[in-house]
Amino acid sequence: MCGIFGITDNSDASKLAYVGLFTLQHRGQESAGIVSDSGGILLHHVGMGLVNEVFNNDVLEILKGRSAIGHIRYSTTGSSHIKNAQPLLLNSCLGAVAVAHNGNLTNADQLKDSLQKNGAIFQSSSDSEVILHLAARYRGRRLEDTLAKNLPKLAGAYAFLFMTPGKIIGARDPYGYRPLVLGKKGRSFILSSETCAIEVAGGKTIREIEPGEMVILEGGKARFKRFAPVKQFTRCIFEQVYFARPDSEVAGRTVQTARYEIGALLAKELKHIKADIVSGVPDSGTVYALGFSEESWIPYQTAFMRNHYTGRSFIQPDQCLREFTAQLKLAPIRDVIKGKTIILIDDSLVRGTTSRKIVASLKRAGAKKIIMAIASPPIISPCYFGIDTPNREELIANKLSIDKIRRFIGADELHYLSLESLVSACGGHKDRNFCVSCFTGKYF
Ligand code: 5GP
Ligand code: MG
Repeated sequence: MCGIFGITDNSDASKLAYVGLFTLQHRGQESAGIVSDSGGILLHHVGMGLVNEVFNNDVLEILKGRSAIGHIRYSTTGSSHIKNAQPLLLNSCLGAVAVAHNGNLTNADQLKDSLQKNGAIFQSSSDSEVILHLAARYRGRRLEDTLAKNLPKLAGAYAFLFMTPGKIIGARDPYGYRPLVLGKKGRSFILSSETCAIEVAGGKTIREIEPGEMVILEGGKARFKRFAPVKQFTRCIFEQVYFARPDSEVAGRTVQTARYEIGALLAKELKHIKADIVSGVPDSGTVYALGFSEESWIPYQTAFMRNHYTGRSFIQPDQCLREFTAQLKLAPIRDVIKGKTIILIDDSLVRGTTSRKIVASLKRAGAKKIIMAIASPPIISPCYFGIDTPNREELIANKLSIDKIRRFIGADELHYLSLESLVSACGGHKDRNFCVSCFTGKYF
């Protein structure tokens, strides 16, 4: 996972890219970067950390120009290192070209091997650099022709932003695994992983880039070019489950609305269950719990105080600090919990380690009974398309039965949502389907 954002034709391009990346921060906290186009010279700044740690006013003043692309990284392929921070900027026979990538290329190693045998020297260990090396070897007249020739050689998931002097190109893989939306702000075009960043930057969403489509932003205009037929529209359903911000629109539905409905469907599936309160694991579990509460008539309560300064995953440098991870992020509100039977909702269960700590902390705070309800089905298979689900062995639902998982996390009951309910609440139908491989183990 990662976030990408680009904007054209704006005297504040790099500042608006900063606003966009800041809004997409939930998609990755490892590194951030912006490349701006200053009258044909591409200026570059990347760093490790959060957007507001990497950029300040002085840096943004240096990143002059009327267009910019930016990236925030959540490491999946390639190690956590500054050389893997994006956008990548290379000089080659194509001239200066920058790329920002969200997704995971499943044939990057093979492509890299053969490119290296032919003399390519890679700057990073991330898979994203492969496309630039391909593009430098198999060129067309314009960058869009070059990309149309080379993108079909890539397998896996991608939403790309490319920049050369005077031009930004966005491209989405033929399955549409990863999101990419086009927006407009006055005369400026915006490309973003999520609609929330377009809105916050003061723009309006136009439409998604279709699978196998690219958009060329040049000379104040947007042109569209198909580089591959739509294989099958299988967007990643984990955007709705966990990744996307609730105010973003995905597949024609606001994520908040989809999650609320998922919560209600979960309540329908569990209508035999009695409890004193229903609560969500903040932040991602909260909306599901509200939908559950409305449908079940079980009152919603906030069981945890969430500390908002820890980020999505607190850094765990040593044993002493590691012990505080759970308490630092989520502190139970004793009065709400004591003596209660609680339906606790989380978006997903991956390794089970977070849930185990959360259940233990509720029990310590005096909860009578914890009924854990997960707003998605068991994750039994890894993601090869960019979601950071660990290898098969670490996925608890791949190893243990539901009852054994329940015991491991220390809950009194454990329930999962059905796949049918999840897909229907996300607005799935025959032409707008979802990739659900992590739940089924079936890959396209
Ligand atoms: P577990 O209890 O299985 O260890 O972790 C489940 C928690 O991880 C859930 O609260 C869910 O919100 C969160 N989660 C799900 N997917 C991801 C992801 O890709 N990255 C991170 N950092 N957290 C995730
Ligand atoms: Mg969570």
